[in-house]
Amino acid sequence: MRTGLIGLCTLALAIGSCVTSAQAQFGGDPATYPAQTKFPKANEAAVSRWLSAARKVAGTDLQPEFNWRCLTSPLDRTMVAGVQHDGLVQPTRVFDQLYSIGQNAVSAWVLKTSAGLIVIDALNNPDEAREILVPNLVAMGLDPKQIRYVIVTHGHGDHWGGAKYLQDTYGAKVVLSDADWKMLESPERGGGPVGNMVPPTRNVTAADGDTITLGDTTVRLYVTPGHTPGTLSLIFPVTSNGQRHVVGLMGGSGGGQTGPAAHQQVATLIRWQQLTRAAGVDAAIANHPAHNAANERIALLRNAQPGDSNPFVYGAERYGRFMKVLELCSRVQLARMGETGD
Ligand SMILES: [Zn+2]
Repeated sequence: MRTGLIGLCTLALAIGSCVTSAQAQFGGDPATYPAQTKFPKANEAAVSRWLSAARKVAGTDLQPEFNWRCLTSPLDRTMVAGVQHDGLVQPTRVFDQLYSIGQNAVSAWVLKTSAGLIVIDALNNPDEAREILVPNLVAMGLDPKQIRYVIVTHGHGDHWGGAKYLQDTYGAKVVLSDADWKMLESPERGGGPVGNMVPPTRNVTAADGDTITLGDTTVRLYVTPGHTPGTLSLIFPVTSNGQRHVVGLMGGSGGGQTGPAAHQQVATLIRWQQLTRAAGVDAAIANHPAHNAANERIALLRNAQPGDSNPFVYGAERYGRFMKVLELCSRVQLARMGETGD
């Protein structure tokens, strides 16, 4: 490589940018490189056992989901920040009634019903709601004045930041669970990158098993603690080219951050597997594109040929395995903290 570097440098000298191009292409001072996350208390035997189990369940068809949740996300925060950069992505109709209208770092979705629109998550802040979410919605031929509900999956700022803007501008009713409303209403505003943002005022407090019905569409809401105390997860019907599917959105697929939260997440995911199986969930969306390679799926969808399958349709069996992988990755996380993960 050194020979190559010198050769390139000689060439670059001729155009006066040797140092810059060499540094850009071959790195800088290794002492300044970020390191992967270390887990000094890890129960290595348990980590290996759960990781192996998760890998088996994931197989090859859930490798992006497995990689993200079990490996990349816990091990490499620098890569996570890179993948989840703020960035513009094209709004896309993913199902006949469901549109992706978010940005690269965090998702927002809109569900079109016969009596108006249900927005799911509201991006990082009012600026993103005004300059990304709303224009994306308009680009899809939808009228923001028709937003009736904004369902916020959980009380972290990247999901509720734009909710007050939608509430104030269009009179949309904002929906969270009681526990996560309390996060927003606390002085800390739920933590995370919330700055001085003003939270929406409480409209609808969703309890476990509640439904939101708008026109011809009913969204079922479940309180699924772990990622936050009152994370909401959603189940609702859609069609793809007229064919019926049931979407599951696990609102806290990022996992629980502390030991007790990760234990709660394991219990939640076991329950969620039962609920989604009973409801016939066969399609998966998430509230961050990276959680199930949504941007890549959207790229495939945008270039689909007649007869190609919808990449967000997993099938019931595979959806169940996706959630099992998340459960097993939470067990890996517990083992990395030094527990057995049982
Ligand atoms: Zn979160």
